[in-house]
Amino acid sequence: MTCELCMPQPDPVWRNDQFSVILVDDANYPGFCRVIWHAHVKEMSDLTAAQRVTIMDAVNQVELAQRAVLHADKINLASLGNVVPHLHWHVIPRFADDAHFPNPVWAQAVRTPDPMTLAARRALLPQLSAAIAQRLTS
Ligand SMILES: [Zn+2]
Repeated sequence: MTCELCMPQPDPVWRNDQFSVILVDDANYPGFCRVIWHAHVKEMSDLTAAQRVTIMDAVNQVELAQRAVLHADKINLASLGNVVPHLHWHVIPRFADDAHFPNPVWAQAVRTPDPMTLAARRALLPQLSAAIAQRLTS
């Protein structure tokens, strides 16, 4: 069985030998990032202590970049993997006016976001990508 997260991710924002960071293509959630551990492991407890520090620091740096660039109202962190059991973290900038707020992004939508607002957030994505790469480089 092929695992889509074992494949190299196209256009990663950041990639090293252990993990990749990608921008998720979701029209309602510009800035939604995924941190994908390269090795096909299922659970956080499959990692060594040092690897857990590495991936959680990466998640934290992505969160800090989202806060600095997008000024989100809240950042949601989620590691689910029920559908694709390959360790990855969702780092999701949330806004009070987004499609699901205050519910999880996977719940039923409660509103249609303003297209101009989404476009303004989308325009910040190059800046967000640069901020993530800079944080993970240093
Ligand atoms: Zn995999």
